[in-house]
Amino acid sequence: MPNPDAPADVVLTGGHVHTVDSARPRAEAVAIRGDRIVAVGSVADVRPLIGSRTRVIDLRGRLLVPGFQDAHVHPISAGIDLIECDVRDARGREAVIEAIRAYAGAHPDLAWVIGSGWSMADFERGVPRREDLDAAVPDRPAFLPNRDGHSTWVNTRALALAGIDRATPDPAGGRIERDRDGNPSGTLHEAAAEIVERLLPPTTDATRDEGLRTAQRILHSLGVTAWQDAIVEAAGDATYRRAAAAGWLTGRVEGALWWDRERGLEQVDELIERSRRGPEGRYRPNSVKLMTDGVLETFTGAMLDPYLEADGRPGTRRGISFIDPEVLKEAVVRIDAAGLQPHFHASGDRAVVESLDAVEAARAANGPSDTRPHIAHIQVIHPDDVPRFAALDVAGNAQPLWACHEAQMDELTIPLLGPERTKWQYPFASLLRSGARLAMGSDWSVSTANPLLEMEVAVERVWPDSRGEKEALLPSERLTLAEAIHGFTLGSAYVNHLDDVTGSIETGKLADLAVIDRDLFAPDTGPIGEARVVLTAIGGDIVFEDPAIR
Ligand SMILES: [Zn+2]
Repeated sequence: MPNPDAPADVVLTGGHVHTVDSARPRAEAVAIRGDRIVAVGSVADVRPLIGSRTRVIDLRGRLLVPGFQDAHVHPISAGIDLIECDVRDARGREAVIEAIRAYAGAHPDLAWVIGSGWSMADFERGVPRREDLDAAVPDRPAFLPNRDGHSTWVNTRALALAGIDRATPDPAGGRIERDRDGNPSGTLHEAAAEIVERLLPPTTDATRDEGLRTAQRILHSLGVTAWQDAIVEAAGDATYRRAAAAGWLTGRVEGALWWDRERGLEQVDELIERSRRGPEGRYRPNSVKLMTDGVLETFTGAMLDPYLEADGRPGTRRGISFIDPEVLKEAVVRIDAAGLQPHFHASGDRAVVESLDAVEAARAANGPSDTRPHIAHIQVIHPDDVPRFAALDVAGNAQPLWACHEAQMDELTIPLLGPERTKWQYPFASLLRSGARLAMGSDWSVSTANPLLEMEVAVERVWPDSRGEKEALLPSERLTLAEAIHGFTLGSAYVNHLDDVTGSIETGKLADLAVIDRDLFAPDTGPIGEARVVLTAIGGDIVFEDPAIR
């Protein structure tokens, strides 16, 4: 029996503790022994637990919160992007070319230069040319998808290796960008990129491991202590198991096993089988990712009513149900019956309905369950369907960074939706007011992994780059800071099945914590997204520490 009065290993004191525990919302100090929180209270309450070997961290008025949990993220691929030639930070054509040249020079042994992250805005007509890439990488083939992954920049060597020339026809579902004389000019759209992609050296286990390690380091530096990996295929499952077995998986991970939409119900038993292999360390594959539609910008999000066409009048396009609704129902009934969690991707209002209908079928067939279904993205929800989340106990999984006016929203999305449906976007406050649970996630690497930036948009509904310039997108859907923190802590812990042991700062829970460099609740504290995490702990172990905390 451990002695309850034994000294703590770590005491964090002299700060503002936002506990996300409704019984005691605020405190000043927290004591940790082993992997658990052993006291939460005032500075005086915790002082008796300070012994000669206790590490005392003076918070100096900073904010201590539960560790953030990202309910929808792709860490392995995001990490691999970063260790390959990542040009996301380069601004302008010259800088992008220079970044690629530098990467190629630093990696002379690579047979291919593979990267990602260029922006269409940096190139004339949005299509970069092979000659520019040849100048950066003259000696080897090079392959770089753009930021959204729909267009890929290749050099002359890559085109030659793939046998793409003026005689090559555009493949089904793709297009080869060409000069006036018909020669390929260096950009391949959609399926055309696959002609080159199949020549790339396969991603090795070592690369996946390094990707996960890189991503985990970044997530910890942002205060993220647990996450749900929103696409776990066999290779990802193996990567997490290797990391856990080798002892370096410090984050707590719920894995959402990928539903292959090219296949049908015959895969249910395989998914159950993979889940039944059980947890390994902090990794647990207990969820199934069902991608029910695409994205609105490309007319692939599934809509109840047709998209508007360029002239502003309704057309005939309603998007695509990636999974037949009847198959989806049957799949979710069986997934739920097996005790696995349905994790839906649904952008359009019809995809949301189909996801809710599938859960309704599961509730009817199986009765209540503890599988905690959740629907990610929820870009457009028909107002009639908002109350169904609470009624069916389906959690909304919000990616709040997207809920604001920026170029993609204003130029590509709103014109397709029209004024009425524009108002149905990202109704986070409506969901909460209807009694629904709300989890939050980043969808990194599609968006930043930084929960503080995500929370700023949840609270302001204004893009951080246009603070004070643009109006809020649907200001009635703004959340309070406390609601946003709840979403990224206890809300996501719920869908990760970790809320009994994490997600709030309470005596007896695991010491998964983050320290933010300022009290976000103080007046005049500045934009939420400008705050930084300075310390992250998981199970009492400090996994990230900024020297500023010392
Ligand atoms: Zn995603």
